[in-house]
Amino acid sequence: MAIIGGGFCGTLTAVHLLRRAAPGTRVLLMERSGDFGPGVAYGTCDDRHVLNVPAARMSALPEAPDDLVDWAGVAPDAYVPRRVYGEYLRARLAGAAAHSAARLERTVGEVERVRPARAAIELVLRDGRRIACDRAVLAVGNLPGAPPCELPDDPRVVGDPWLPGALTDGGTASTLIVGTGPTAVDVALSVCDESPAARVAMVSRHGRLPCSHLPGLRDPAPPPVLGTGPLRLRALERELRAHGRAWEVRRHRLAPSVAAAVASLRMYGRLTVLARRGGARARAARAGRRGRRRRLRIARGACRLSDRHDDRVRISAKVDYAMRALVELAANGDGSPVTAERLADAQGIPQKFLQNILLELRRAGIVASHRGPDGGHALAKAADKITVADVIRAVDGPLGSVAGHAPEDMEYQGSTMRLRDTWVAVRASVRGVLEGITLDDIASDHLPDSIGRLLGEHDAWVRR
Ligand SMILES: Cc1cc2nc3c(=O)[nH]c(=O)nc-3n(C[C@H](O)[C@H](O)[C@H](O)COP(=O)(O)OP(=O)(O)OC[C@H]3O[C@@H](n4cnc5c(N)ncnc54)[C@H](O)[C@@H]3O)c2cc1C
Repeated sequence: MAIIGGGFCGTLTAVHLLRRAAPGTRVLLMERSGDFGPGVAYGTCDDRHVLNVPAARMSALPEAPDDLVDWAGVAPDAYVPRRVYGEYLRARLAGAAAHSAARLERTVGEVERVRPARAAIELVLRDGRRIACDRAVLAVGNLPGAPPCELPDDPRVVGDPWLPGALTDGGTASTLIVGTGPTAVDVALSVCDESPAARVAMVSRHGRLPCSHLPGLRDPAPPPVLGTGPLRLRALERELRAHGRAWEVRRHRLAPSVAAAVASLRMYGRLTVLARRGGARARAARAGRRGRRRRLRIARGACRLSDRHDDRVRISAKVDYAMRALVELAANGDGSPVTAERLADAQGIPQKFLQNILLELRRAGIVASHRGPDGGHALAKAADKITVADVIRAVDGPLGSVAGHAPEDMEYQGSTMRLRDTWVAVRASVRGVLEGITLDDIASDHLPDSIGRLLGEHDAWVRR
């Protein structure tokens, strides 16, 4: 039996074959890299690259779900470095080979052709070797994604971030990563770690990062419900466009430590996430010609690129953290103080940032902090008296400013005269929502009817 590809699937196929095979069976594991076990996903040497699934769900042996937990000596909900998981796969392969009645043969080489030859199957390797076997399993991994445009032949443009040495160029000042999925996040962390001056922008059509895992072991996110009854193809496409991405970012989650590192980079302005469409071909060519200190890194799952940068995030990460901590306090029935550590743990918020946010909320009279052994933080007033608008103003400043100015202070002339009214109307409409929802509404899962009506509008969930 020959297995072509010694990554995750090939290695586990070999492990399970070795455990069951009859004496005399030969199991050939063929791998072009020479490293049997880790494959692309678990071949990284960077320990910030951790599994995106808790250890209790990554056992190689279905009958021993705690196998990885015990082998690595970690908690069931730990997110192990992927390098360590690669070692685990190597160890399980070696163990299965040592105790098997069958024989494992590791062959280093790239299989170029698989063809029938009389009663057997013949494998032809790139170096000309030919190997006969009875059965062949293809475990060659995912095909590399097509780049969004023809890439210039320029060392500053990295087409595959997983190639050895691809991300070690001694500290690049600014990097654009095309894609905002888990691989793009790994690349951003590595690049920012190269130099404290490194700045990264990530871009995708939707501009959404994967969500963070919540603490503990949880069930995976359920798939979206795509209407009831048979769907026409057009309707199915529309539904998938509307809901598919929202599911993707919940299905493939980031380990909490990774999400915290990303949040920290965003808060310090070192990482920007953009949603943009269009124009990859021209921009990539320009990035190559101009000789600027800018690199285009194509992370797998790449999308299109545009050079229009924009730092604006309508609801900042800081506001999101502040709201999560406050709703947690509002949901704390007896109103007793809760420590920052517990709040950070419950919501997967980096504790250092939460401390700063709590300080701002205290200054704004939203939170009261108590010292001492039973100390912690509590709401300074009733949860139904604190609106979302109060929280945003406390941590991000006034609602609806125009280039840093209040809309009513803007001055326009001639044909642009009504712009000021337009911006004032925008602010009024935003206030209508944000001043209409309190912490209590959210914590008690009872949003006001006016908000329910907005959510029920047919295109409320459609991104544009
Ligand atoms: C960066 C990254 C992180 C991931 N993290 C997780 C995670 O945390 N948890 C999770 O469940 N999943 C994760 N995944 C998903 C992952 O793809 C799968 O879990 C799994 O590793 C895929 O295994 P595979 O064997 O199909 O591919 P691979 O592990 O890539 O193995 C394919 C192997 O085949 C070899 N090969 C290819 N062609 C030939 C040939 N012609 N001849 C000889 N050898 C060949 C390659 O060298 C490679 O080693 C991640 C994926 C990536 C890319």
